[in-house]
Amino acid sequence: MENLRIPGPTPCPPEVLQVMTKQMINHRGAEFAEMLNGVTANLKTMFQTKNDVLCLTGSGTGGMETAIVNVLSPGDKVLSATCGVFGDRFATIAQVFGAEVVSIKAEMGRAVDVGAIKAALQKDATIKAVLVTHNETSTGVTNDLASIARTAKEFGKLLIVDAISSLGSIDCPVDKWQIDVAITGSQKGWMAPPGLTMLSISETAWKAHAASKMPKVYWDITRAKRYLERGQTPWTPAISVVYALSISLNMMLKEGLQNVFARHARLAEQTRKGVKAMGLKLLPVEEKIASNTVTAIWPPEGVDADKMRKTMRDKYRVVLSGGQGSLEGKIFRIGHLGLCSEKDIEDTLSALRKSLPEHGYQPK
Ligand SMILES: *Cc1c(COP(=O)(O)O)cnc(C)c1O
Repeated sequence: MENLRIPGPTPCPPEVLQVMTKQMINHRGAEFAEMLNGVTANLKTMFQTKNDVLCLTGSGTGGMETAIVNVLSPGDKVLSATCGVFGDRFATIAQVFGAEVVSIKAEMGRAVDVGAIKAALQKDATIKAVLVTHNETSTGVTNDLASIARTAKEFGKLLIVDAISSLGSIDCPVDKWQIDVAITGSQKGWMAPPGLTMLSISETAWKAHAASKMPKVYWDITRAKRYLERGQTPWTPAISVVYALSISLNMMLKEGLQNVFARHARLAEQTRKGVKAMGLKLLPVEEKIASNTVTAIWPPEGVDADKMRKTMRDKYRVVLSGGQGSLEGKIFRIGHLGLCSEKDIEDTLSALRKSLPEHGYQPK
């Protein structure tokens, strides 16, 4: 079997794969309603929130668009704090729908500067919302969301968070941090296939939604909430993925929220230690901002990251991710979120150690 070590889609446990062979059911019937209600309640536990949680059919980016079009109006000014490809994507979506975007960009491998957010909010009182990525998957950097949230709330701003690759893997207490919209996707830490995006909506976000004028039909959260009251979704949902998520959520809750976070921290530490021991360098400039779900690594001088990944895949059946955007071909990334064990990381590190010499580098 392939050791799929990319930051989503992640492997699914056998029980999750099994349940997807179940026959289709009526998505307007009682059995589906019971399942969706259970999934929604369990997601609230995992999001650590009492806010509404919606489970919509689409990928994570669909969830990002949902957040934007439902709480903003054309002409609204938003502060985008970005440190990579996914932060930039969030800003682009806002811009395309007519928001006026003010950007703070961190240098590659660095986290978003909380001081810069504060300064921007101080300077311009007309900013309505802060858009930020909790865990920047493209660079393996986790932002200090607790501090960012405190700052956004100090100035009374809406806080919209792409937590796609952190929620359910890295502690992200939605209510404690007063996150107005937090977004994730089923194929990241949730041990389910791609197909669902899940997001929480605060009271404040609902108020902003009532005044929002950006166009929306498929992603309209008023429709989603109205249907959820009957245990339904407005449009035909990815029923098989809901089956899957209902099982994977049970597994996560059985393991326990804090234990899930601790396991991710342990696996990330094991990964970082292993690559550093081979003499490789991490992309994040400081280890304390390095992500617990994905590790981004510079290949040694002279080693072609993409060719080395090919060797790892072909010879050792370990699949890693490459770089995105300006980092294409320059780095490689190891995913360690969702279904991942110490053995999976050991095998990955061992394959890396064996592949590097074939590309001209003798690991330490
Ligand atoms: C994966 C990811 C996305 C995009 O999700 P899709 O499901 O591919 O649309 C957005 N943001 C972050 C941080 C991600 O990790």
